[in-house]
Amino acid sequence: MATLSSGAKVTLRGYRELYGSKVIVGELQAEAQMTCRRCLEPVTVVLESSIRWGLVFSESEMQDLEKDMDPILVEEGQIPLRQAIEDELVLLLPIMPTHESCNSEWISDTESVDISENKSPFAVLAALKNEQGS
Ligand SMILES: [Zn+2]
Repeated sequence: MATLSSGAKVTLRGYRELYGSKVIVGELQAEAQMTCRRCLEPVTVVLESSIRWGLVFSESEMQDLEKDMDPILVEEGQIPLRQAIEDELVLLLPIMPTHESCNSEWISDTESVDISENKSPFAVLAALKNEQGS
């Protein structure tokens, strides 16, 4: 799973369009900590999106909304902004997060571990431990 870094930037502006729709536009910028699918190290993913939400007050109003707007259902006079922002961020998360180029040094470190011999790395560690203990 992803962990959202603190300090997400959200700029929102509400206005009413000529034909009556209430619209919220804005910019969303956040960072999430995810796991790189190539090297399994943490990777910071930048999430950026333009927001264009249309406020609706019933399920039927959602149908009437322009196609280029995401409907936000206002319930009991409350705009679920936090929920809407979280939903937006979840949509922006990459399915396969990877570094632009994974740290090759880190990879060569793992390659230097010799597991081709009969002894497993754990057996070697156990042997070292025994030596120190004697
Ligand atoms: Zn990576």
